[in-house]
Amino acid sequence: MTQMAWVNGVYTAADEARISPFDRGFLFADGVYEVTAVYGGRLVDMERHLDRLERSLRELKFGTMPDRKELEEVHRKLVETNGVDEGYVYLQVTRGAYGARDFVAPEKPRLTIFMFSEKRALIDTASARNGSRIVALPDIRWARRDIKSVGLLAQALAKTEAKARGADDAWLVAPDGQVTEGASSNAWIVTKDGEIITRAISNMILAGVTRHALFDALGQRGGKITERSFTVEEAKAAAEAFTTAATGLVTPVVEIDGVKLGDGKPGAVTRSVQKLYYTAIGADVAKAAPWVNA
Ligand code: PLP
Repeated sequence: MTQMAWVNGVYTAADEARISPFDRGFLFADGVYEVTAVYGGRLVDMERHLDRLERSLRELKFGTMPDRKELEEVHRKLVETNGVDEGYVYLQVTRGAYGARDFVAPEKPRLTIFMFSEKRALIDTASARNGSRIVALPDIRWARRDIKSVGLLAQALAKTEAKARGADDAWLVAPDGQVTEGASSNAWIVTKDGEIITRAISNMILAGVTRHALFDALGQRGGKITERSFTVEEAKAAAEAFTTAATGLVTPVVEIDGVKLGDGKPGAVTRSVQKLYYTAIGADVAKAAPWVNA
């Protein structure tokens, strides 16, 4: 069945959605996006995603905000119409199309807003079960990684390079040797003493919504997270590692640059974090992810 998409106020068959080639998103990557997970037909942390969208637009001085109530409604409608039980809703806002190529942005833009959804497994995936193998690559992105820009070429090239090297994903490394984050996720390590570490929020990384939710969930159970940077070498010597993202939720990392972490299988702390997060989004872990207890 054709999936429904939404472009500038109009619901349309996804494969018939049209946007101008003069759109500033296409010409200059002048736009931002959000990806909200859907589990059990419910949108996971949509409000936080919309908060971050508005922040990204403010930081880029868009001067115009989309109607938040309308965005919320379209999220719900796409989930319902497209029958998304598990998957995500994608939302992109660009500074619009003006029939010309002018670097200078208009003061009052006519936004282009595009949304679609996709059904896909988030919990029972091969990488959630077995972990992913990572390669560390130089972080060649611009200096405002806190903005969820559609300018994703560096990330796309890193993920392509990771696949070419036979790995599953890439972690990005700043010139000072510290890991910034995953190519489309936040990066975490667990020390041999069970300390959970992730990089502090700054312009160097995206403030992940899943990262934030995990701070809440772990905090409620009295768990502690240390916010600090770590090098690739420290990550390779760690007991465990994992990534967080709306589409990967909590994904164990079992190998970095060919070096196995621990026994090369998802570790106990990572499994407990997966369990905690799956429960937080309303999953019946015994049914949806029995392997976290194995
Ligand atoms: N960091 C980067 C570079 C990302 O692209 C993403 C998600 O796409 C994340 C972190 C995780 O963010 P979230 O948990 O909000 O999906």
